[in-house]
Amino acid sequence: MDQQDLVQKIKQLKEKKHALIVAHYYVEDEIQEIADYVGDSYYLSKICKQREENLIIFCGVAFMGESAKILSPQKRIIMPNKYSDCPMAHMIDIKKIEEVKAQYEDLAVVCYINSSAQIKAHADVIVTSSNAYHIVSKLKQKNIFFIPDQHLGRHLAKQLPEKHFIFNDGFCHVHTNITKQELEEQRKRHPLAEVLVHPECPADITEQADYIGSTAGMINYATNSSKLEFIICTEVGVLHELRKKNPNKQFFSVGEQFICPNMKRITLKNVYEALVYADEMKQEDGVDCSDVIKDMQVEESIARKAECALIKMHELGE
Ligand code: SF4
Repeated sequence: MDQQDLVQKIKQLKEKKHALIVAHYYVEDEIQEIADYVGDSYYLSKICKQREENLIIFCGVAFMGESAKILSPQKRIIMPNKYSDCPMAHMIDIKKIEEVKAQYEDLAVVCYINSSAQIKAHADVIVTSSNAYHIVSKLKQKNIFFIPDQHLGRHLAKQLPEKHFIFNDGFCHVHTNITKQELEEQRKRHPLAEVLVHPECPADITEQADYIGSTAGMINYATNSSKLEFIICTEVGVLHELRKKNPNKQFFSVGEQFICPNMKRITLKNVYEALVYADEMKQEDGVDCSDVIKDMQVEESIARKAECALIKMHELGE
């Protein structure tokens, strides 16, 4: 089946099943194109809750599907490729969280949304890269154990010197590998460009930014800016939406090699097969796709604890 046929079949099945397709900015362009909504993980989990569809094909990594399922437990959330997982989402163990909790009486465990449900269940509050400053500044506790990403934690600590931060050593392998030298080369090539940096990048990159923010924040910033050129320091997938929204502006990736292999695992064929699976036509085209697709489930006790931390984010985020 060629790409056009696949897209056609996806549209037909989507309609038949009354399904919603959502996609993160980092998945392949052709998947962003067939999605009903494209956004960051928090936005997508809110959309899944707000929309009336009960069947959702979630094109993103596992922790994103988990958040959507936690917030909409009655809905069926299907991950088109169960191998699409984020290493950083698991970069802390529960034992370490308990050890740090035992050391401080006045402590808040603040967990970045890029984390597994199990980790979220041990946190006091969840944050995104957009609302982290706002939420942590409102916490009454002085000691903040920020998990799992060290770079977002360190970026935040600089903005909140009145708090005492304890860092974890987690990181995103895509953002961590962006180097100062690569950024300098791009600056020489595009001297008029503004530099937009994701806070998962190390400090020597964020220090050079004109703007530091989430993927959605970067898109808003560039769209509202009077500047015409931008160097983008995050995963290359976000360039698709940036260029679509701003056809008169130019966007340069700090390096085309900064690709998240986990997000890029998801293919159009996976999306089609997820819909076939949902339609219980498992053997269509002779393919049993049930070994790649995952019907997202989160253990009840974990889901309810993680939900409390997510609800706290909503309360403090307002
Ligand atoms: S870009 Fe980094 S943080 Fe995002 S899903 Fe990929 S590995 Fe995880």
